[in-house]
Amino acid sequence: MQTIHSLEILHACVKSIRAEGGTVALVPTMGALHAGHMALVDAAKQQASHVIASIFVNPTQFGPNEDFDAYPRRTEADSVKLASAGVSALWLPEVAEMYPDGFATTISVAGLGNGLCGAHRPGHFDGVATVVAKLLTQVAPDVALFGEKDWQQLAIIRRMTTDLNLPVSIIGVAIQREDDGLALSSRNAYLSPEDRQAAIALPRALEAAVKAITIDGDVGDALQKARLDLEKAGFDPVDYVALVDAATLEPMDIFDRDARILAAAKLGKTRLIDNLAVIKR
Ligand code: AMP
Repeated sequence: MQTIHSLEILHACVKSIRAEGGTVALVPTMGALHAGHMALVDAAKQQASHVIASIFVNPTQFGPNEDFDAYPRRTEADSVKLASAGVSALWLPEVAEMYPDGFATTISVAGLGNGLCGAHRPGHFDGVATVVAKLLTQVAPDVALFGEKDWQQLAIIRRMTTDLNLPVSIIGVAIQREDDGLALSSRNAYLSPEDRQAAIALPRALEAAVKAITIDGDVGDALQKARLDLEKAGFDPVDYVALVDAATLEPMDIFDRDARILAAAKLGKTRLIDNLAVIKR
């Protein structure tokens, strides 16, 4: 696996893959890799002859009181995992390369980025959309893979790619979970043993809500019960539990079509998110 620190070398790498008739799948990450990220790499290998992964802890998607400084950075261990998974190149841009002096452009996906996590993390999705647009432009892959774990992020990236006619296919990959159901996340490393136990309440509350909504259809009651279950388990605050249209993310009061239930809540200092499909039969 080639480890790349400069745009010039990145471009040469992609050019040589293309010169041999190869195709490129990009897996963007912030590192501290776990099996969720590696599922993206496995899916990427099915899509293209070469996989390029990126690791960049993007400062512009963290709020002033968020965990940018504390975010786990384990580039050496990550590099070993990616190489043994068959990744061709690891793109490791520096902050100064991504955001040189005078950098002035922000991509903002209106509507989709405002609600849910966007309402609680002002500016977060502008940071995400801008850095993903840059990574897609830098690597110019045929396909790029993102986890359904970050459902709102995936919807925003799909919208941006369509709106800007970016010549790339966006592929969503199913959420990878621990045996007890907790979605894998780099931030799970922050949880104390007690909070790790309590965290199971998040997928359980969503599963119970999916059952309730698909059985009797009372959306308001189901969401309220999920919120109470989370509060009882020690989540504070519960930022939201919402049923939304899976593509537009518009809130749904009535379960009349396929939907997605999403939640975000804090356990101690750790903010966890999760989501599940709610299928209309
Ligand atoms: P991150 O490093 O947290 O920015 O995540 C990089 C990519 O991995 C994003 O597309 C995430 O949605 C995806 N991802 C993170 N956790 C999971 C998971 N548990 N299952 C599937 N994809 C995930």
